[in-house]
Parts: sequence; C-alpha cells; structure tokens
Amino acid sequence: MKIISNPKEMQSASLFLRGRHKKIAFVPTMGSLHEGHLALLKKGRELGDILVLSLFVNPTQFGPHEDFKRYPRDAKEDLEKAKSAGADFVFMPPAKEMYGENFETFAQLENLPKFLCGKSRSTHFRGVATVVAKLFNIILPHTALFGEKDYQQLKIIQKMVRDLNFPIEIVSIPIVREKDGLAMSSRNQYLTPQERQSALSISQSLTIAQAMVAEGIKNKSQILNTVSATLLETKKIRIDYVTLSDPETLEELKQFKLPVLLAIACFINKIRLIDNRILHP
Ligand code: AMP
Repeated sequence: MKIISNPKEMQSASLFLRGRHKKIAFVPTMGSLHEGHLALLKKGRELGDILVLSLFVNPTQFGPHEDFKRYPRDAKEDLEKAKSAGADFVFMPPAKEMYGENFETFAQLENLPKFLCGKSRSTHFRGVATVVAKLFNIILPHTALFGEKDYQQLKIIQKMVRDLNFPIEIVSIPIVREKDGLAMSSRNQYLTPQERQSALSISQSLTIAQAMVAEGIKNKSQILNTVSATLLETKKIRIDYVTLSDPETLEELKQFKLPVLLAIACFINKIRLIDNRILHP
C-alpha cells in the first residue's frame, strides 16, 4: 500500500495506471475509519483493479463554530485498517496542498444544498462539492463510492457529476449500523455512554415511521409528530430537522407520496448526528 500526500504525485500515479488500463475505484473519507467506511472499501475492492482511499479532514466543509479542530483523527489506525481492507493507495494531503493561499474556485450547486442539512450548514455542501471535485481531478477514478448515510451529500455528488460531465460512475452503499441500530459515524466516539443511549432513539424513530407507513398511514403530520415525539422523549436531544422529502429533489413533501425520504438531524448536547431512511409502502 502506497501513501501519497502530494496531489501531483497522486495524479501522476493515476495517469500511469489509467494508461495501463487499470480500473480505479475511489473511496473519499475524512478518516477515523469505521465499519461504514470499510463497507465502502470492500465494495471498491470488488469494483476496481486499484483501490484508492483518501483521508482528508476538509476544512472548507466545516462552519466557523463547528468541530473541525476536534474532529477525530487517527492516521496510524486508519492506515492499518486501510491496509487490511486491501487499499492500494492512501491519499492523505495536508490542507495547504489542497488549498493554496490564493484558492478561490468553488463548486456550488443551486438547489440541492438549500434543503435538509444545508439550512443550518450554509457553506457545508460548497466545501463538500469542491473537495470532491478536486479529489476526482487528482485521483481520476473510474468509480467513486459514497454512503447513503450522508444522503444529501450523495445526491449532490451524483448531480455534480452529471452536470459537469465527470466521467465517473457513482456507486452508493446502504447505511451500516451498529447491532442496536445506531448509524455508524466517526462522531459517535464523542458520545458518552448515556448520550449514546439517547442517540438510539434516532434509528428507533425511523423504524417506527416505517412501521406506520407499512400499516397504511399516509398522514404527513402524524408521521412527523410521532418521529419528533419519539426523539424528544429523550430529554438530551435537540432536533435540527425532521423532514419527509422527495428522495430525488430533496424538497419537503407537500402531498404525501411514497417512497419518501425521512431524514433526521439532531444534537445530543453539542454532537450533531444525522440519519435517514427511505420509507416504502
Ligand atoms: P466521512 O468520513 O464521514 O466523510 O464519510 C466518508 C464516506 O463514508 C461517505 O461517503 C459517507 O457517506 C460514508 N459513511 C459514513 N458513515 C457511514 C455508514 N454508517 N454507512 C455507510 N456509509 C457511511
């Protein structure tokens, strides 16, 4: 496994491999790898001749009062996990290699970032789209893999790839969960045991909503109220949003129709967690 920190060197390695007709699969991450990331790597290993992982805590996707500084970083453990997962390359650039002093070009979508997480994190998806576009140009993958855990991010990347004609196939994988249902996240390690217990109500409320839909309930407010009430039973939770949205446009539903995206973001003390589920009949 080769570790590269210089964008030019990574790009040269990719150009060389492409010249040899190798199919490159790419998994972008911010590190602190967990089973969700490992599932992406496993799928990438199946899809590519060459598997590239990036480890980069991207400063431009954090707001001024967010957790950029204290975001968990553990390069040593990540590299061990990457090796076991069969990565051929790990690209881990320092921030100054990605954003030089005069950096001023950003990738910005018009509509998809207006909804869900974009409402409270106004510059987040501009940072995400920009770093992913840069990583695509550096790593030159044939396929890139993303998790449905960050559903809005997935839709934004799919749209950017279509709109800007990146010759890249975007593959998604379902949310990987702990045995008790909690969606895996690098931020889960911030949680105290009590907070982790509270966090369980997030996935539980998604399951309750799916059961309501399966029973034939088609009332938007009834579903949203039940989900919110389930979350708020846990005193520690503060809701950022609970929405029923169109799975493609991400617009909030006016008329209830299935399938629908039920998306949740909430804070447990200062820790922001997200989860979602597509509700089917
Ligand atoms: P991150 O390191 O949090 O930026 O995530 C890197 C990639 O891993 C993104 O495509 C995420 O959607 C994906 N990911 C994170 N958590 C999970 C999970 N629990 N299940 C599936 N994919 C995940």
